[in-house]
Amino acid sequence: MNKIKTIIFATGNSGKLREIKEIFKDLNADILSMKEAGVFAEPVEDGKSFEDNSLIKAKAVRELVDSDYPDPEGVLVMADDSGLEVDFLDKAPGIMSARFMGHDTSYDIKNNEILKRLSGVPDEKRTARFVCAVSAVFFGGDHLVTKKTMEGRIGYEIEGENGFGYDPIFIPDGFDVTSATISPEEKNEISHRGKALRSMLEMVKERSKGNS
Ligand code: IMP
Repeated sequence: MNKIKTIIFATGNSGKLREIKEIFKDLNADILSMKEAGVFAEPVEDGKSFEDNSLIKAKAVRELVDSDYPDPEGVLVMADDSGLEVDFLDKAPGIMSARFMGHDTSYDIKNNEILKRLSGVPDEKRTARFVCAVSAVFFGGDHLVTKKTMEGRIGYEIEGENGFGYDPIFIPDGFDVTSATISPEEKNEISHRGKALRSMLEMVKERSKGNS
């Protein structure tokens, strides 16, 4: 296998990119966002699972890299897809997490709606999880996919100023407060995204061993 010189991560989110750079620094590759790499893909995420959607994104960027980017053999393309599954709501919002109630609706409104749908529901039925799938597509089309979760439950009110999205209503297992209350460092250690990225790092390293 060609040595990985560059990783292009299909995200425009600078917080995600910072976390990815930290976790993948072992590989000694340049890690670039789509913008930094000058490739732009916005495929329709019409998969049926987090894994499908992360792979759809990574494959779309891979195609652009292979046709437009210098030295595509040395590039590994990665993408993630994540969201919140609430068991009492049949795992909604799930893969629709970003689009739930409309893309531009504030998270204050989305979070209040979930609290409302769970009003009167007891603790043991408020279980939920954040899910993150990460896909990597190599030159030539081989790919790897991994998915990890952060288990927890939905609280009773909006709480905390850290984090983003559904963090103010999600209480991770082992905590009494929401993931918007704990520090970003603490969250990265236990988060679905942190776990999925670390698992992908191990899979990429394993594959490189097998190919060298
Ligand atoms: P993605 O960026 O397409 O993967 O969409 C993820 C969506 O899921 C975000 O817009 C959030 O609504 C939600 N989400 C994923 N991870 C988290 C998290 O760690 N905290 C809060 N919300 C999250």
